[in-house]
Amino acid sequence: MRKTVDILGVHIDQITMADALTKAKKLLGEGGVSAIYTPNPEIIMAAYENEDFRAILNGADICTPDGIGVVYASRMLNHPVPERVPGFDLTCGLLEHISKTGEGVFLFGAKPGIAEIARANLEKKYPGLVVSGVHDGYFKEGDEPEIIRQINESGAKLLLVCLGAPKQEMWIHQHRAELNVSLCMGVGGSLDVFAGTVKRAPDLFIKLNLEWFYRLLKQPSRIGRFMALPKFILTVAKKK
Ligand code: UDP
Repeated sequence: MRKTVDILGVHIDQITMADALTKAKKLLGEGGVSAIYTPNPEIIMAAYENEDFRAILNGADICTPDGIGVVYASRMLNHPVPERVPGFDLTCGLLEHISKTGEGVFLFGAKPGIAEIARANLEKKYPGLVVSGVHDGYFKEGDEPEIIRQINESGAKLLLVCLGAPKQEMWIHQHRAELNVSLCMGVGGSLDVFAGTVKRAPDLFIKLNLEWFYRLLKQPSRIGRFMALPKFILTVAKKK
């Protein structure tokens, strides 16, 4: 049974990183196609304002609290999540796991050429990792059957969909039934980080829960997106 907290209509799992990893490994071994999403405040705000997107997030097998804003919101609602469970870290844990089991991963998303660099870096970082295939995230609607064919023929068990929110969650929802993989994860800009084109915050920023601040310093053009954070906290406070 999932233990979740309802944050503006989105069911966020009250789990630790270790629990999320255990559950994700289990989903990899099960039949059917599971989905993991990792909502941050910006994604939850978008879902609050869009019922269809909210239903898609609530159709996940796990929704991890990605971002300190989500942790604070859960505390304000008196149903605290134990800790932040960033999609990027969960992905790293799973990749390490499948590098030992031999299950393959398909990297889907980011600008042309990025997934290939991510693949080379990941194969170095996780010796034994099987990257079954890659495809960039800039495609036309008519290309989708071919992308799905490539994913299915690759034999991958894990599919990382990195198209940004809400596109990646909608894509997974729309194509779930056509896929042969065991687990799909919507993990935004992760391929850019694996490729080294975007740097993750230094450990100190992560420890101090200031990863959002580091990203803002590095990419000031994201200021509009970061304004979702105060709006999110205010909306949760009002709802409470
Ligand atoms: N992206 C993509 N296809 C699109 C739009 C975006 O593959 O049509 C990619 C983009 O290149 C980037 C990722 O999706 O690699 C989303 O990046 P963002 O920084 O928005 O992700 P987040 O903040 O959600 O981690």
